[in-house]
Amino acid sequence: TATVALLTDWLERFRAAVVENQSYLTELDSAIGDADHGSNMARGMTAVVEKAGEPATVDALFRTVGMTLVSTVGGASGPLYGTFFLRFGTTAGAVETLDGPALSAALHAGLAGVLQRGNAEVGDKTMVDALTPALAAFDASLESGGDVADATRAAADAAAKGRDATEPLVARKGRASYLGDRSAGHLDPGATSTALLFEALAAALA
Ligand code: ADP
Ligand code: MG
Ligand code: MG
Repeated sequence: TATVALLTDWLERFRAAVVENQSYLTELDSAIGDADHGSNMARGMTAVVEKAGEPATVDALFRTVGMTLVSTVGGASGPLYGTFFLRFGTTAGAVETLDGPALSAALHAGLAGVLQRGNAEVGDKTMVDALTPALAAFDASLESGGDVADATRAAADAAAKGRDATEPLVARKGRASYLGDRSAGHLDPGATSTALLFEALAAALA
């Protein structure tokens, strides 16, 4: 079961991962974008951890997280990750813990927000290519009797596969789409940070 403290640990682990991988994420974005994904995510998540505090409920935590990302990160990823966390919190509600099904519902609401805001589909070479299989694997694990730790581990593995699958794709959304066919042959930066997001979740809830 995910408590507010464990979800706060998720955010701290994600911050640490994007800071550690800042140059790598920026390198990926320099190949098919404008070389700022690492700095965007590191700046955003550092602000998130500074502002998070110790809220009592899941919705209060993620309202702060989402608003902080939207206001500190320009570009595509700020509003997209911001919307993901805002919807996650709204759907979780004023509760102190999330069990597996409640965590699934919150994650699905986050993905729905990203889809609504960015209008991407699986295969467009975006963060959606990591998010979508991660949630499918999460649900499949719960369905087959796994606990939250099993489900988050399955989600992280599926997110990494989804990230890897972006390499040959031609981008159809975001800045990378301006390159047309030349966007093929590179990992998508946002799918790469999303794989870090699920790796952090698996570590926090292990
Ligand atoms: P920007 O492209 O504005 O510089 P970032 O570099 O921080 O923003 O983030 C780029 C990432 O955002 C891409 O790698 C991609 O995964 C994601 N992205 C861009 N546009 C969309 C979209 N419409 N829907 C989903 N994800 C998107
Ligand atoms: Mg960029
Ligand atoms: Mg940019």
